[in-house]
Amino acid sequence: MKKVLILIFIIIVGLGVYKFKDAIPDRVKNRLAVAVKEKNWENLVNVVIPGKCDEPFQYSIGGVDSRFNINQEELAAIAKMAENIWDSQTGRNLFEYNPDAPLKINLVFDERQQQTMAAETLEQKLEKLKLSDAGLKKQYDLIYGAYSKKVDAYNSSAKKYESKLNNYNKDVIYWNQQGGAPPDEYDKLQKRKKDMEAMFKDLEKRRKEINNLIAEMNALANKESQIAGDYNSAAATYRSKYGGSREFEKGIYNGQEINIYQFEEKSDLELTIAHELGHALGAGHVENPQSLMYYLMADQNMDKPKLTVEDMKALSELGCELYPN
Ligand SMILES: [Zn+2]
Repeated sequence: MKKVLILIFIIIVGLGVYKFKDAIPDRVKNRLAVAVKEKNWENLVNVVIPGKCDEPFQYSIGGVDSRFNINQEELAAIAKMAENIWDSQTGRNLFEYNPDAPLKINLVFDERQQQTMAAETLEQKLEKLKLSDAGLKKQYDLIYGAYSKKVDAYNSSAKKYESKLNNYNKDVIYWNQQGGAPPDEYDKLQKRKKDMEAMFKDLEKRRKEINNLIAEMNALANKESQIAGDYNSAAATYRSKYGGSREFEKGIYNGQEINIYQFEEKSDLELTIAHELGHALGAGHVENPQSLMYYLMADQNMDKPKLTVEDMKALSELGCELYPN
């Protein structure tokens, strides 16, 4: 049926071309000639129907749900950038903003964006936990370093104290065996005893400091394991909820309007709008994952979106004359 219609169309066009041959612009004649030569009849239809690109395709900004955290002006600016992806590379003014244009670009909030935002919140939480975990580990290492030094110093002082105590005890036993120390020896022993008491006091003080460090390290270790637990459970939640491939329509052109349902950043919003504008112009999907008109957001350049050969071809098949730079 379709083929018959195309055949009838071709006959009518043929007659028309013959009758009005002087009135048809050369560029249309050329395109007709190419289409006939390539026997590309479907393309012939596109060539003859007044080109979709002859007048810039006008759009306006419609409803913007506030939950997207973006306002109409910002959306208009992003749409302008999306428009420029097409315009700058084709050398054509394919799209134009006009506040009265019936084709509106809307941001429609539903569970898709809600899910995106929930995923983002969880990602931020994970990042925060990771940071505080790293912070705790660093703090722990610092305290552990101080602790090790203190323990080494304590052990060597304790050894000295012990040997002093042993010598002192030996001397006391000796003088006791002699029936008591003479006054000058006695004074010396008393002085040694006092020194040792001071030393012992100091050792005790240091032992307490070391114990405090141990308590601090234990507290940090507990906190760290709690954070690690929180991280693991949040990560598990993230994986089960958002880990799989989330293939859903980010946007749609329904013949009257462009509705955008989901985006993570302005760059992917721009790409989605550019894709839907392509549909609005009449372009279908193309096969190259780097193409703007690929059915998924895949290998497109997010930072510097570019049309591919396939995108350009889709436009020229619509009958758009392009002046690529
Ligand atoms: Zn699409």
